[in-house]
Amino acid sequence: MNKAIFWDLLGTLGGNSKTLIKDFEFFDHSIESLKKARENDYLNILVTNQSTIGHGKIGLTEYENYLEKMRKLLHNNDCDFDEVYTCPHRRIDNCECKKPKVKMITQAKDKFNIDLVSSFVIGDTIKNDMLLANNAGINGILVLTGEGNEELSNFHKNINEPHFFRIEKDALSAIEYICKVSRSLYKN
Ligand SMILES: [Mg+2]
Ligand SMILES: [Zn+2]
Repeated sequence: MNKAIFWDLLGTLGGNSKTLIKDFEFFDHSIESLKKARENDYLNILVTNQSTIGHGKIGLTEYENYLEKMRKLLHNNDCDFDEVYTCPHRRIDNCECKKPKVKMITQAKDKFNIDLVSSFVIGDTIKNDMLLANNAGINGILVLTGEGNEELSNFHKNINEPHFFRIEKDALSAIEYICKVSRSLYKN
């Protein structure tokens, strides 16, 4: 079976939750993070909510063109996503794919034969990404870039319980942590 990192895009690998795909730029550490995941035998799978498509702010074809451009940049740096899953719907469409629902994960799991227990979701929101991890039975790591900091302080304000996910500064420290634990797990 394979293991995977399910990456959130906005606020996790670049930009923030309000960034339009046409303005998206990777953080300085993002490409290194994706490469590190690959070197440690994790598939890099992007799972992104893009309700701007459903709201008609950008056409699907236009979105796909920007996505292609983004992946070309990754290619030029000797990396890429193994697969990209996009939910184009609005919240009120009540689709099955919008995070924190798990359809994008189960599609990837079936396609790539992924062992979810040894996989991770890395994202900057609790309401979408960490709940997605929880719903799918995957380890979640909240990064403090994008909305991460704000999400975390709201969480602690409202809920008097320990959180059910790990917290890391950014995508790179998240992947470094994952490499460290997976090495110690599989060491004989
Ligand atoms: Mg995000
Ligand atoms: Zn959807």
